[in-house]
Amino acid sequence: TASIDDLLRAAAGRHGDREAYVEPGGERLTFAEWDTRSDALAAALVAGGISTGDVVALMLPSGIDYAICYAAVARLGAVATGLNARLGPREVTAILDRARPALIVHDPVNGPPLPRIGMPVLTRNELADLYSRPAPGSRRTPPDPSAPVVIIWTSGTTGTPKGAWFDVRNLLASAGSSGVMSAPGDRRLVATPFAHAGYMAKLADQLVWGITLVISPVPWSAAGMARIMREERITVVGGVPTQWAKLLDEPDATRLPDLRVGIAATAPAPPDLVEAVAARLGVPLVVRYAMTESPTICGTEPSDPPEVQFRTVGRPQLGMEVAVTDPDGRPVPPGEVGRIRVRGGCVMRGYWRDPERTAAALTDDGWLLSGDLGRFDVEGNLILVGRAGDLYIRGGYNVHPVEVENTLAEHPGVRRAAVVGRPTPVIGEIGVAYVVPADPAAPPTLAELRTWTRDRLADYKAPDELVLVDDLPVTAMLKLDRAALRVRSAADRV
Ligand code: ATP
Ligand code: MG
Repeated sequence: TASIDDLLRAAAGRHGDREAYVEPGGERLTFAEWDTRSDALAAALVAGGISTGDVVALMLPSGIDYAICYAAVARLGAVATGLNARLGPREVTAILDRARPALIVHDPVNGPPLPRIGMPVLTRNELADLYSRPAPGSRRTPPDPSAPVVIIWTSGTTGTPKGAWFDVRNLLASAGSSGVMSAPGDRRLVATPFAHAGYMAKLADQLVWGITLVISPVPWSAAGMARIMREERITVVGGVPTQWAKLLDEPDATRLPDLRVGIAATAPAPPDLVEAVAARLGVPLVVRYAMTESPTICGTEPSDPPEVQFRTVGRPQLGMEVAVTDPDGRPVPPGEVGRIRVRGGCVMRGYWRDPERTAAALTDDGWLLSGDLGRFDVEGNLILVGRAGDLYIRGGYNVHPVEVENTLAEHPGVRRAAVVGRPTPVIGEIGVAYVVPADPAAPPTLAELRTWTRDRLADYKAPDELVLVDDLPVTAMLKLDRAALRVRSAADRV
């Protein structure tokens, strides 16, 4: 295995003048600059006492400085960990307590809040001085494919974030495994934070193919996204489903000559959203099933028939194995719902300094237990049913909220919908639907939505209550915040 250090030098040699990073309306960084600056910063960090195996926390917004720091840390053999700029003080403290970084690189203006702690801090405005000095040139890290290179924190959708750690081999395993998502010469618009797992796979693709990452400005806006797609001649654009849905509300979002493919990842993409994007932008919206603990798992491809693209998350990606099993780990037949487990080169080595949760997530024979439920169709496409923890039981029957949400979202009066279970004395739990109406002046009624659902699904899946809302709560990763809705549904009780 090559080291990250070798790969950065090689990428600079092959793609020197090509843009590696673009901050629209701001800085641009070529592959050659990425190499020299990260090399210089690595040398400065080593001179400052950072060594192999140390953790360096990046509390910076996604962007060029982030990319330089990340590469510098990786090439000196230390461990980079990014903190999403949207995290609050309590989450930051919990993460730093576990990561115990030897150094924090912090942006006081655009980074997450820095708690009062006794850890060395390098502020962002000190960086440029360090990476502009020429590197001494003698420093080389011996490649160690099993050394930790990055810790990535889970979104914290179901509790406190967990720090998935990866070695160099894991990082490189994700290069090329993403199928249609990367091709030489691509200009890719990135709307998910660099602190998130997706960046690891993008970085690997960059080092191999020299693709350009164009960084979506913060705060994110659909209008901005549409404009950058046009101005920066974007070929590939990724986003969470919420971002795609908002893009479609934008009159400016139209077909573009360079655009090749859209990617929806990290949360359920309602089938009609996938269809609407294809119709409006004239490119396929492929779906990716991934998680922090395994940044590559399954995906659809543009050549898949519509029912596969609209209803499934596709087949396992290159080098990945996926199984659907019963609670004892025995595979269930196609069509039957079970627990999803994943094995392969992209699966994390474990949770950082957390043997207990590591043991609960990884089996002795290398399977990662995803916590998600799903089933395979006869062609081997995976259909996600939901998280094991989101399922609610109404009168003895299991209800998977995502299925009900997708059905509600197809109703013409519904723009977006979320369903959570609320405990009640008689039937265990009932379904409460939170609906953003398509037309607030003429919202759908509970009776209408119940009939709509019953015409399509088993009757116990029809929601029992309807709450009309202006928008749905989301987490720092823009995922539906079900925990917030569950709390609300208890308070909204009539
Ligand atoms: P935490 O583990 O801290 O509770 P999280 O699981 O939301 O947070 P991530 O690792 O960012 O953190 O998200 C992975 C999860 O997102 C998957 O386990 C799955 O439930 C969901 N997910 C990912 N991709 C898709 C997809 N295409 N469709 C539906 N759900 C998806
Ligand atoms: Mg998770």
